[in-house]
Amino acid sequence: MTVIAQNWLAPLVDEVRPHLAGGAVSTYLPELRRAPADELAVAVDLGDGNVLTAGNLHARFTVQSVVKVFTLLLALHYRGEEHVFARVGRDQGIGSYNSLETFIRGSGVPVNPFVNAGALVVVDMLPGDRPQGRVAELLEFLRALTGNPTIAVNEAVARSELALSDRNRALGYFLRSQRLVSCDVEELLWAYCQMCAVEVDVVDLAHAGRVLADGADVHLGGRLLQAWHVRLVRRLMLFSGMYEASGRYATEVGIPAKCGVSGAMIGVVPRRAGVGIYGPALDESANSIGGLRLMRLLALTLEIE
Ligand code: GLU
Repeated sequence: MTVIAQNWLAPLVDEVRPHLAGGAVSTYLPELRRAPADELAVAVDLGDGNVLTAGNLHARFTVQSVVKVFTLLLALHYRGEEHVFARVGRDQGIGSYNSLETFIRGSGVPVNPFVNAGALVVVDMLPGDRPQGRVAELLEFLRALTGNPTIAVNEAVARSELALSDRNRALGYFLRSQRLVSCDVEELLWAYCQMCAVEVDVVDLAHAGRVLADGADVHLGGRLLQAWHVRLVRRLMLFSGMYEASGRYATEVGIPAKCGVSGAMIGVVPRRAGVGIYGPALDESANSIGGLRLMRLLALTLEIE
C-alpha cells in the first residue's frame, strides 16, 4: 500500500493549475458563468479519519450531473436492479448528456442513468407521491452520505435551470409518451433542477465518495445500500461518468468518477478513498480540465491498476 504524506496534494494542484487556462467555464446558466476559471480544489478522504485537502476549500458549488450517482443509488435501493434497468440502459453514451439521441436504438429507453434522459427516468422512480418529496428524500440521503446536515439546494441556480430547461422538457415529454415516466413532467423537471442545484464543497464529495468506496453493504440513515448496488454504480461511473470522453477516461485513469458542468467531480477509489474536486474550467467535452488532470495524477500516486 502506498504511504501517503499529508502534504501530498498541494504539489499536484500546483502542477495542474497552469492547464486551467486552456478551458472555459460553463455559460448556460448565469450562476455558472460567474465561476472563477482559475479555481481548483481537491479533497481526498482516506477513510482513516484523514481528509487531505488542497486549493480553495471554501468554494461551494452545485453538484449538477454528479447528483445522478446519488439518484441512481436511491433508485436501486428502493426499486431494485431489475426495475431500474428495465427502464434505463447500461451502455456507454454517445453524444452530449442532454442530446435527444441518447436512447437505445429503436426502444426509446435512455442509454444509461447518467445522460439527462436516463436521470429523469431515475428521478421518477424515487419514493414520494409528488416530485417535491423526492427532493427531500435526496437531501436527507446526501446529508447522511456526506455527514453534513447543512446540505441544501441553491434555489437561484435551480430556478435558472428551470427557466432554461427546454431540452430537458422535450426529453421529459418524450419519456412520458413512452410511459417511462409517470408523474407530471413540469413537477419532475422542477425536482430534477433542484437536485442538480444541491450545493456542496469538495470535502462533502470526498466523504460521499469514501462511503461508496466500501466493499460491504452500507448502512445510511435507516437505509441499507447493498454492496452489489454500490459496485454497480461504481462500474457505471467508470465507463459512462465523463460524458462522451468516458471511454478515454476509463482507460487513461481508471478511477470511477462522475463530473458535472459546474466543474464538480466525485471519484471513488474502491476500498481506499473518496475524492472530491472542484475545477470549473471545462474542456470541449464539458469535463473539468483540472479534475481530469488531478484524477490522472491521483491514479498514478495511488498506483491504480
Ligand atoms: N443541470 C444540468 C442539465 O441537466 C446538468 C448537466 C451536467 O452537469 O452534465 O442540463
